Amino acid sequence: MTSANERHRPLQSGPCDECGQPIIWAYTANGNPMPVDAKPSDNGNVLLDARHPDHRGRPAAGVLGAQAAAGARDRGQELRTHHRLTCTHPERWARKTRKATR
Ligand SMILES: [Zn+2]
Repeated sequence: MTSANERHRPLQSGPCDECGQPIIWAYTANGNPMPVDAKPSDNGNVLLDARHPDHRGRPAAGVLGAQAAAGARDRGQELRTHHRLTCTHPERWARKTRKATR
């Protein structure tokens, strides 16, 4: 592992502490950190925006509704999945999540 060029990485990813899958830390509109699968997913609904990183260089994460997600996919944008949905230890990430109202 070299640390050359570490200053300018648009999307920083690293292994999940629990399952070792590569994840990207993003931040939500509320400023909360959010783990997102590094790999784009065909049924993801999280759009990462690296143009407006926070002070740690994390991309902004936008969670799209079904229609917006379909539109983004049509435009060829890569969507990802909240890591909670694919982690082998989802309870690790459920801690602060409010109960979903649907
Ligand atoms: Zn994990």
